[in-house]
Order: sequence, then structure tokens, then C-alpha cells
Amino acid sequence: MDESRKKKLWLYVVYGLLALGIILSIQFAKPFQPSEISYSEFLNRLNAGEVSKVVITDTRIEGTMQTEEGEKNFVATRIPDTDIKDLVALLEERGVDFSGRVENTFWRDFLLTWVLPLGLIAFIWFFVFRRLARRVGGVSPMSFGQSKVKLYDRSVDRVTFGDVAGLDEAKEELQEIIDFLRHPLKYRNIGARIPKGVLLVGPPGTGKTLLARAVAGEADVPFFSISGSQFMEMFVGVGAARVRDLFEQAKAKAPCIVFIDEIDTIGKVRGGIMASGGTEEREQTLNQLLSEMDGFDPQTGVIILAATNRPEVLDPAILRPGRFDRQIMIDRPDIKGREEILKVHARRVKLGSDVDLKKIAARTPGFAGAELANVVNEAALLAARKNKKAVDQQEFEEAIDRVIGGLELKSRVMSERERRVVAFHEVGHALAASLLEHADPVHRITVIPRGIGSLGMTMQLPEEDRYIMTRPELEDRLGVLLAGRAAEEIVFGQVSTGAQNDLEKATILARKMVEDYGMSEKLGPVSLGLERGARLLLGEFSYGKEANYSEATAELIDREVKDIVTSNYERVKGLLASNRKALEGIAEILLEKETLEGDAFRELLMKLRERPEEEEKVDSAVSEVAENR
Ligand code: ADP
Ligand code: MG
Ligand code: ZN
Repeated sequence: MDESRKKKLWLYVVYGLLALGIILSIQFAKPFQPSEISYSEFLNRLNAGEVSKVVITDTRIEGTMQTEEGEKNFVATRIPDTDIKDLVALLEERGVDFSGRVENTFWRDFLLTWVLPLGLIAFIWFFVFRRLARRVGGVSPMSFGQSKVKLYDRSVDRVTFGDVAGLDEAKEELQEIIDFLRHPLKYRNIGARIPKGVLLVGPPGTGKTLLARAVAGEADVPFFSISGSQFMEMFVGVGAARVRDLFEQAKAKAPCIVFIDEIDTIGKVRGGIMASGGTEEREQTLNQLLSEMDGFDPQTGVIILAATNRPEVLDPAILRPGRFDRQIMIDRPDIKGREEILKVHARRVKLGSDVDLKKIAARTPGFAGAELANVVNEAALLAARKNKKAVDQQEFEEAIDRVIGGLELKSRVMSERERRVVAFHEVGHALAASLLEHADPVHRITVIPRGIGSLGMTMQLPEEDRYIMTRPELEDRLGVLLAGRAAEEIVFGQVSTGAQNDLEKATILARKMVEDYGMSEKLGPVSLGLERGARLLLGEFSYGKEANYSEATAELIDREVKDIVTSNYERVKGLLASNRKALEGIAEILLEKETLEGDAFRELLMKLRERPEEEEKVDSAVSEVAENR
């Protein structure tokens, strides 16, 4: 602060002196300047014999004349096209000492037409630009290359894990990094390799930025924060310089955290179809970032965190080992998480006695942390407007409606009926995954919307890596894919559009089984269709495969694909129907909790499962269906 004020003062002094100098020099030069007289007066003086000496140029007549105050210089404008011979004759007659001079106007013209206007433009540009730069974020033209890093003051803005509600998994993963930043020597001595970069991935407003700051707060190290768009601002070629500068600063302060927010703005896939001028700048910046990351030793104690809500556009080079090789998913909170977030933000407001944060959490599925913070704030504003002493439940209810009114959220807030459909659909997947022998176990089920288009999710974790799969394994995979739709049909008697993606995947898989894996008895162990690579070798470009079989075979393939899909659909539908009690029981609990971890799910299933002997029967019926195909 002080520094810049001093600089400003100096500038004023310099400007003042300059102006004074100009005024003084004009005043001082006055007496020596020739007085301007008219051509007629010049002729008069000449005729009166007062002119003693004359220099004639193209445009002027300069000379010395006799006045009452003594000799004086004068200038008069020479009237163009007057006959110079007449003038010369007159001068000779009067005995005036005269000479001619070719006027050299080069410097004057040059100054007037070039230097002055350019100087003016430069001057104006300089000022306008400084203004602009200051508004945009404080780069003066003198510091083009310096990165606009925000360094948080540790004592003032300290954020800790206590300010971040929920996100337990993410916190746990980051714990190791915090420990490394606290005791770098411990890790160095043992030779442990710590990840250089950690990428936080999740929808907007879920607390990625907050979490990154909390890591710095927990480790009590400096936190350099810059957002991807700031790298790109203003000038070509500066982005890369900023990256260099950022790493210089960080290395000097190690151990520390460098946080690159919205990394997708610089980290988009390089050399895309839409390559343009701006893209080139972005690529330079990205290349610089990647080479800086490759160049430094993680033992220096600089950890790079980055955040994005669009991981799909990221250049794969960013995710390579030694760069952001660790990724942490940050999801929208479930009902429990939402209650915790509300609690954190409600610390700052006075709550009425009837406020039930649990109820508020139940009313806000699909909300992210930022929106919940917004709800609390809106409620407090409403209460203040009503001159209340505390925020009551009523204000919270109103605030929720207000926040839902925000356009983006609308698409994310499901109706109760939609939530039920999604819950049964997901439990259908999960049940099939548990009950089918070869399916991967359930890791987690949620009915919290993720991204666009996906309203819920069932995650499975494979127990081992598989390179080859048998036919029963593939069929069970098909069964799990189709189970969502089957559950909807069983419970609601109709199907929804929610299974579109499942059906697509199932059909692709079934077609592969027939065409590529030779798993259809009717077609036999043949590979059908030509590979795409072969097509490219022939110098042609075409998507999909070239049919290397007859029309009749094509029809048979279609029929076989349909057969495989339908028979597995029927199989899994039968399986779910015979476990309807579990299906409904678990769906209800999922609706209430929004998220079920794998273990909790399996426990519920154990409790709710139908009598085993009945199931035995179903299983044999199912295998019968399979054989009839
Ligand atoms: P992102 O970077 O993921 O878009 P932010 O970290 O900027 O989201 O979060 C915006 C605001 O939302 C935070 O400042 C905080 O007030 C609130 N918020 C988000 N997630 C949480 C959370 N888990 N706990 C507490 N507050 C949160
Ligand atoms: Mg953010
Ligand atoms: Zn599904």
C-alpha cells in the first residue's frame, strides 16, 4: 500500500516540474522572438528605409528593422506568387543587405506530423490502459509477466476442514498431502514419492475451492491461488510467462500450495478442430504449465491442486503420471451432507427455536453447498427485512423456494414421483449386481443428480482386473444394465426414458457378443464385420464397420442380438420380481438417505431377502429361460 502511494506522489512531482519547465521556457524565449508583421507593413518599413537586413525563404521574409526602441527582428509571411524580381529590385534600390535561404522544414514537419500525434496517442494509451488494467485486476504494463497470484494471508483468511462440511472421503484423501506439507522431511528421508498434482473434480458450488483453501489452512502453509481464466487475460504470450512466474514464487515459498481454479480454461484438449488465435495462446500456457510440472521435484514441497467441473474437456496430457495423477471426486451432498453444510453456515446466523435443519436438508435434494449457503443467507435477509430477532423455519422455507427459482437449479430439482422412479431404477441395478453370480459388487447407490442427464447412479467396483470375460459374465453384465428398466416395469407397470443409456450400452454389448466374440450358437464362432483400422489402411475413411457378410446373415445377427438382450431382460426381471420385498424396502430407504454405501446396501439386502427356498425355484426357472433361447 505505502509503496504504491509513494510512487504516485513521485509521478505528480515529475509531471508538475515538466509543466513548469514548458511554461517558463515559453516566457523566457519571448523577447528574442521576432515579431510578426504584415506584408504591407514590411513594405511600408522598407519604403521608409527602416529595414536593414533581410533573408528570404520560400514562405517567409525574416529581417531586422529599425524602430523607436532600437533594432528588432521581424518576420512576415511572403505572399506566394508575388514576383520575387520586383522585391529584389526594391531591396537593391533601398540598399538592404539581402540573401535567400531554402527553408528546411523537415524537422518541423516531422515533429508536427509524426512525433507529436504519436506521442499523444502513446500518452493517452498509457493512461487509459493503466486505468483498464487496474480495473481488471491490477496489472500495470510494467508487470506483464507477473502472475496475478492471490496469496492468502494465513492468519486472516484461514479456512480449515471445520469450515468444510461433509466431503469426508475427499478430506481423507487430502490428509496425506497435509501431512507431507507439515513434515516434508519425514517423507524425504524415507524416499516416499508424494503426488505433485491433485485434481478436484465436481459440479460447481460443491466446495472445491473451499476444500483447496482448507488444505492450506490445515497444513498451515502459504496458498497461491490463481484461476485458469486469469492466466489467459489481456495479452498474448503472457499466459506462459505467468505460469513461469507463478512457479518461481511458489518455489521460493515452499512448502506451499499452488491452486489453479477452473483449470479447464487452459487445460482443454490441444489442437482441437476449433483452433484459432486464442487457442494458440491457451496452448502455450498449457504447455508451459505441463513443462513446469515435469520440471520440478516434488520433494521441493510445492503441491499443486487444481479444480474443474468439466473433466471431460481436459487434455489427457494433464492427467498423465507426474502431473495431476490423483483425482478426487467431489459430489453434490446427500441429505446428511446437506444438513452438515447448513449447520456450518447457520453458525453465523441467529436461529429461531423452531428451525429444523434436517427438514431443510430433506427439502433440498440436488442442492450444492453454494446453494445451501445461499439459502441460509436469503433466510437471514428475509428475517431482517421483517425486523425479526431470529431466523425461523418459515424464512428458510421461503428462501428455498427463492433459490430453486434460480434457473440452473430447476432442472436439478426432481419431483417426488421422479425421485421414486429413479430410486427404484437404481435399486434394480444394485439388486441385480448383488444377486447375479458374476456381477461386480455394488460400491454405492445414489439418487443425487450428477451432471446433466444422469439422475442417479449405481457404482460397481470390480474385484479384480479382467482381461477376458466368459459368456456367463457378459450375460450378467447385461442383466445388471437392464435391471433398472426391469425394476421400473415391475413396480410402476411402465417404463421411463431414464433407461436410454442402459439400453444403448446393453445393445452394444450384445452385438459385440454376436459379431466379435462368436458367442451365438446360430452364427457360430466367426468374427463378423471388418475392423475400422483395416478400412483406414485402405486409405478410406468410414465410421463403423464394413459388412463382410450377406443380407441373410445381417438379419440373423439382428435377431440374435435382440434375443440375447430380451432373454437377459426377462431373466433379470424374474429375479427382481422374486425379490420385490427387498427392492421396495431398499428403495424406500434410499429415497430417505439418498446415498447407500455398498456395505449398508448388502446389510439391508440380507435382512429383507425373501426365503431362500423360494429363490431356489426362481433360479432354476431363470436358467430354464436361458436354455430355451
Ligand atoms: P466450487 O469451487 O466447487 O465451485 P466453492 O468452493 O466456491 O465451490 O463453494 C462456494 C461456496 O459454497 C463456499 O464458499 C461455501 O460457502 C459453500 N460451500 C460449498 N460446499 C461447502 C461445504 N462442503 N461446506 C461448507 N460450505 C460449502
Ligand atoms: Mg470454485
Ligand atoms: Zn440405469
